[in-house]
Amino acid sequence: MGQLSAEGHEPSRTGSVLIVEDERRIARIIELELIHIGLQVAIATDGPAGLRRALDEDFDLIMLDWMLPGMSGLEVCRTVRQEKQTPIIILTARDTTADKVAGLDAGADDYITKPFETEELLARVRVALRRGQTRQELTLGDLRVYPDERRAIRAGRLLELTAREFDLLHILLKNADRVLSRELILNQVWGYDYDGETNVVDVYIRYLRLKVDEPFASPLIHTMRGVGYVLRKG
Ligand code: CA
Repeated sequence: MGQLSAEGHEPSRTGSVLIVEDERRIARIIELELIHIGLQVAIATDGPAGLRRALDEDFDLIMLDWMLPGMSGLEVCRTVRQEKQTPIIILTARDTTADKVAGLDAGADDYITKPFETEELLARVRVALRRGQTRQELTLGDLRVYPDERRAIRAGRLLELTAREFDLLHILLKNADRVLSRELILNQVWGYDYDGETNVVDVYIRYLRLKVDEPFASPLIHTMRGVGYVLRKG
């Protein structure tokens, strides 16, 4: 089992949380609440320090203030996301819809507006930790795909895929090293009742190659002439 908390008697949670918050009073309040439910807590008080710890260490959750000295929380979030899928909750006094969208676009999992109620904070922490534990990840070489979030990353870069392109990449990756026929791909991605152009698979493979392979040194999508396509290294 995991490690005990500072008090040594709280079995409800184990895990480690990085709090990146320049207001020490707020950081301290959150720290005490998290220690109380059995979590281990580290604190960074500016953007660059938070980013460094987030990348160098493996936390189960990062709680990230938006307005930070040195580098904004959004910037930290975006940079962490290029390398890691650690759950991130953004903390901020800003609460317009546009701000929330910006936070989620930067790759945050959730958003808490200051001032917050302790109960709400803890509920969101639990959800984020649970999500982190069950997060599905498929990898092939430097390609990583997170089906639940419909996010694909290659060599640390987020790939901007349409829904169809994502589905196509996902099915290829689930069957990595296995040659898939056009017909199988068509049925899986477009459905059995698809009755449009028959070369749609080839067209979308071309789109996918532009995004998944062309910007990178080694192609992953390979054509098996007369048979179909396969996703594999080299
Ligand atoms: Ca702040």
